[in-house]
Amino acid sequence: MNIDIDRIKKIRNIAPEVTIVAATKTVEPDTIRGLVDLGITDIGENRTTELQRKKAKLKDLDIDWHFLGSLQSNKVKSIINEIDWLHSLDRESLAKEIQNYRLGKLKCFVEVHISPEPSKAGLSVEMVVDFCKNMVKYDKIVIVGLMGMAPLTKDQDRIKYSFQKLYDLRTQIRNLQLPHAPCEFLSMGMTNDYEIAIALGATHLRLGRILFRNEE
Ligand SMILES: *Cc1c(COP(=O)(O)O)cnc(C)c1O
Repeated sequence: MNIDIDRIKKIRNIAPEVTIVAATKTVEPDTIRGLVDLGITDIGENRTTELQRKKAKLKDLDIDWHFLGSLQSNKVKSIINEIDWLHSLDRESLAKEIQNYRLGKLKCFVEVHISPEPSKAGLSVEMVVDFCKNMVKYDKIVIVGLMGMAPLTKDQDRIKYSFQKLYDLRTQIRNLQLPHAPCEFLSMGMTNDYEIAIALGATHLRLGRILFRNEE
């Protein structure tokens, strides 16, 4: 697997302010090393054991580690002090586990279910504001933003509608000016829909496939 430098340049040109979080589940540590050489130092994994394994091989690098996938409560203890950012805070029971095991504050995105497709991932839109307010109980948790995934569709309007919803929710929460929930960031946009996400105000793109090309 090789890094597609031209595509990375293209994304940086259209969105110089946006943080690229590389979703590296399909690549090995040597490829992550190549990304860091290109200045991509935000690295995201969605399995706890994989994050630990890869991080152990890259200890000499200055990487911000992001956890992207759904996090089971029984895995919190093993991973929560290994990461800098969590993109998938989606329930109070998870917040409790984080509060128990994390040493110091953790930057969390609240994951919101913005797609009309049924899925277990993410809080429903109606619950997000109250959830964020309620997080004041857990002083380890800082809500830095919202994360969402658009539906898998070619219908651009449906994707826009989902991202717009996340954007509006972010504004709503930010306007509450809660010290524990500055909520300045929007983690949205993947390989298939990152251009729409940029247009609708993404601050963090979670990119996997588009960064890499298969070479025989
Ligand atoms: C793999 C993954 C991505 C990146 O997906 P691509 O479509 O390959 O860009 C983004 N977010 C999460 C949670 C992922 O697991």
